[in-house]
Amino acid sequence: MATTRFTYAPAPEARSVVNLKPSYGLFIDGDFTGPIDGSHFKTESPSSQEVLAEVSEAGPADVDRAVRSARKAQEEVWGPMPGKERAKYLFRIARLVQERSRELAVLESLDNGKPVRESRDVDIPLAAAHFFYHAGWADKLSYAGYGADPKPLGVAGQVIPWNFPLLMAAWKLAPALATGNTCVLKPAETTPLSALLLAEILQQAELPPGVVNIVTGAGGTGSALVAHPGIDKVAFTGSTEVGKLIQRTLAGTGKHLTLELGGKAANIVFDDAPLSQAVEGIVNGIFFNQGHVCCAGSRLLVQEAVAEGVVEALKRRLGTLRLGDPLDKNTDIGAINSPQQLDKIRELSDSGEAEGAQRWSPACSLPERGYWFPPTMFTGVAPAQRIAREEIFGPVLSVLTFRTPEEAIEKANNTPYGLSAGVWTEKGSRILHMAARLRAGVVWANTFNRFDPSSPFGGYRESGFGREGGRHGLAAYLAGGLDG
Ligand code: NDP
Repeated sequence: MATTRFTYAPAPEARSVVNLKPSYGLFIDGDFTGPIDGSHFKTESPSSQEVLAEVSEAGPADVDRAVRSARKAQEEVWGPMPGKERAKYLFRIARLVQERSRELAVLESLDNGKPVRESRDVDIPLAAAHFFYHAGWADKLSYAGYGADPKPLGVAGQVIPWNFPLLMAAWKLAPALATGNTCVLKPAETTPLSALLLAEILQQAELPPGVVNIVTGAGGTGSALVAHPGIDKVAFTGSTEVGKLIQRTLAGTGKHLTLELGGKAANIVFDDAPLSQAVEGIVNGIFFNQGHVCCAGSRLLVQEAVAEGVVEALKRRLGTLRLGDPLDKNTDIGAINSPQQLDKIRELSDSGEAEGAQRWSPACSLPERGYWFPPTMFTGVAPAQRIAREEIFGPVLSVLTFRTPEEAIEKANNTPYGLSAGVWTEKGSRILHMAARLRAGVVWANTFNRFDPSSPFGGYRESGFGREGGRHGLAAYLAGGLDG
């Protein structure tokens, strides 16, 4: 059936709400400061390849300055501060993130390439929600099952990826600060700008100097941070490969570690599922944020009886997605974050075709400049193919079929990862049966990619360990953990 894509007038968000500086310093001890050796790198907009700003590259000496500042602030100010006082700062940060949400959303879309509709409606509100939620815990830790007088770990070194730059910063900072830890945060090389705007917000909130330090740079900066002897805890989100490296670096040091790594989630659709709703959920599961989502529903497992109909409905729905300018409020699919990521998506998609799967994309013209990949679906995928096993981290859906619930469970669990899964069925009993058998940290039922600060998030096996969010997430920053 032909699809109708209405012509919409462009609805660009005003870029002028962002005051981009030509050059950014490191945020150490409450102030912006240049790197000791003067190194810089450029951050560009992936949708236009325009250079947005020059950003400081922190070397080991800068990381050392940041860690010392964090240590001093932890011992002298933040650690001894009563929880109810720490809470006030977190509430203030949350309110300021809300007040400056439009500016943050535009900046995030410029630097990351994601549609402003998503940064405006998902990333920034959820980042504020994380600060609000954790502000509420800061003065209640003694009553929350962590023991009578729970103690912070000390200084946290936090390394985050480029797919949800501000949101990941909030996931890391909010629980650490609520529990009395201080932080040194390393944003991803390709998306440092929203963390630097957050640093301005921290100044505006009059957060004491040193409580949060932000060191921009590439992998070398991250590696200097996690190896620094002055930190007590490392929290990392990113690739499984780098997660393993960090685990090796930390072995035997006594540092605490949580890892949130890759995924290859199964989104399982039974023949009794509300199919129109499921199609929306499948699209949201894999095409949200260009598929740059660790918990993306990248493997669709659909029951054989309804497979053909679901694939047809998906084709119709994909035909309506609008790809283009991330700052246009009509845009559904933005730019791929970097040329390296685009190469990876292309290489894995080509392997899918070479290994015998059928590739399909809607008619869709790609802008001339920038990094783009059309929404893509593979059918006839076999479990052994690379596109069914490896994390593509792009707008690419692999469709497999199954006949019985047991086969679905076996196929869903046939992965080294274990971060998330989805189940679509009208039977509550089937949801519970499946959820108990799927080896994934999060199982969504009749929905997908839902996030809430009160809900613990994290994986098994190659998807990492430790939880972020909820009471479990706070425990990862307390000396006694959940047992007190
Ligand atoms: P990385 O794991 O390399 O990056 C994540 C963060 O770690 C970034 O801040 C990065 O810095 C930093 N880093 C890189 N090397 C080291 C190191 N040796 N020690 C400490 N920190 C380090 O992910 P990539 O950006 O390279 O993406 C590669 C693949 O990883 C993607 O294709 C995707 O499959 C997966 N990925 C998964 C994510 C998830 O949420 N689970 C998020 C991002 C990627 P810098 O950015 O400057 O290199």
